[in-house]
Order: sequence, then C-alpha cells, then structure tokens
Amino acid sequence: MIVFMENLEKLKAAVRGKKIILFGPPGCGKGNRSRDLRALGLVHVASGIALRAKVRNDPDSELSKKAFEFMKRGDLVPDEIVVNIVMEHLNREECQKNGFVLDGFPRTKAQAEVLFSQVDIDLVLHLDVPRKFLAYGVVEGHRRACVDCATGYSDFDTPEVEGVCDKCGGSLVRRADDNTETIENRLKLYDEQTKSFLQDFEAKGIVEVLPITVSDDEEIDDTYLKKLKGEVYWGQTDKGGKARMLNFEGMRKRLYKLLAEKFT
Ligand code: AMP
Repeated sequence: MIVFMENLEKLKAAVRGKKIILFGPPGCGKGNRSRDLRALGLVHVASGIALRAKVRNDPDSELSKKAFEFMKRGDLVPDEIVVNIVMEHLNREECQKNGFVLDGFPRTKAQAEVLFSQVDIDLVLHLDVPRKFLAYGVVEGHRRACVDCATGYSDFDTPEVEGVCDKCGGSLVRRADDNTETIENRLKLYDEQTKSFLQDFEAKGIVEVLPITVSDDEEIDDTYLKKLKGEVYWGQTDKGGKARMLNFEGMRKRLYKLLAEKFT
C-alpha cells in the first residue's frame, strides 16, 4: 500500500483512466470529493453542471426550457435528456484517456442501465453521510455557480477571487434550486429513485464506502456559528455550543488511502 502524499504521483498513475461514480444524497459532498479526484487527473463530469450549462448557453431551446422546469423544482430531468448530455461528455477523448469521476449520475435505474451497457465502471464510491450532516450548505444557499460555464463553488470550495469563476472569469450566482423546498424534494427523490439501485452496484462488487465519522470533525470559528440554524446543517454543535464542521483534509486523505488500497 502506498503512503499518502509521498506517493501522490504513484496514486495519480494508478487512477489514470479509471471510471468512478460518486454516489450519495444531495449535499453529501460529491462536489468536494470530485475536486479531490480532479486533483489526481480525473475529468469531473457532473450532470447538474452539464444541465445548468446547457440551460445557460442555449436558453431558448425547447430542451433547455423543459430541463429548467424540472430543475427549479428539484425534480429529476427526464432520462432521455440527461442521458444524452452525460454520455456525450463521457465519450469525449479526455474522459476516455484520463478517466473520469461522475457526479450526480446515474440517478435513476434507467440511467444506470444505459451507463453500464456502454461503460465499464471501475468503482462506485458511496458517500455514506448521515442525514443530520446533509444539506446545511444547500439550505443556507452557500453554493454558487458560474453564470457562464456553470462550474459550482461553495464556502468550502471557494474561488480565488470571491464572486468570480476561476475557470472562465464569469460571475458567480446562487443556484436557483438551492432552497428548503427543493432540497426536501431532492432528498425524497434520492430515497425513492436513486438509493435503491446501489444494491445492483454492490452485486457487481464495485462499491466502496467512504463514511463520514465524528473523528472527521474539527472546530470552526464563530462566523460559521452564526450561519448555523435549525436541525439541518453541514456540521454539528457539541455540548459546549461550539460549531463543528467536517475536516476536508481528513476526508481527502481517507479517500486517497481507499483509492491506493483499491488500485495499487
Ligand atoms: P445537482 O447539481 O447534481 O444537484 O443537480 C441539479 C439538478 O439537475 C437536479 O435537482 C435535477 O433537477 C437535475 N439533475 C442533475 N442530474 C440529474 C440526473 N442524473 N437525472 C435527472 N436530473 C438530474
């Protein structure tokens, strides 16, 4: 097994060309884990980002209008629309050559069937995050997306310059579907339509669980405390009233260790 950081280059070589799915409910940190996988050279393909880009770049097309109707309610966009957009990305040379991390897809059994009939998936990473840790970021609206290229950011994945996209310089705006009603709907759809086919992946022997545990927590400062409201947030309040948030560095190390164990 390789040792973290000292052998980062070895890990990059080991994961090159791998096809990985990130699986987990909305707000579980797929975006952040994608960033960690991107740092290893994998191409990030996110169905939500691809859909938002389509709507943004081609707002008058029937397809965009239809997709946006579903997205703003937090409903699932019809399979035929999403499948075409995602498969078109996966067939690009950069994905074939470097491998990819798939974020937000598949979300229905039909999507999973098309994907598996066309692509040999190496690994499904299940981000097994307890419900109480989900969605603070979503509900509080700390996520933002670029108006031009739809790249997503959050308070944990900030751009170099606040409000400006690192990739293309576009302005960052809050996502239209980040509000309490749509997140409830998205969680419900995850339970009803997405979670159930994880067992199909398990039967193929390609699932690894990346759980989040209390040991990943660390204390954070007061500015965050002020943002924490209600029951649903990205973090926890301990007995002394101190806010905690997930330790992203710790998560990254555990993710890389898991990949090293699997692929080297
Ligand atoms: P996300 O950025 O993954 O949270 O996705 C934002 C929205 O895009 C979702 O709430 C859906 O409306 C739509 N969407 C993204 N991926 C899919 C998918 N695989 N199937 C259907 N709809 C999707």
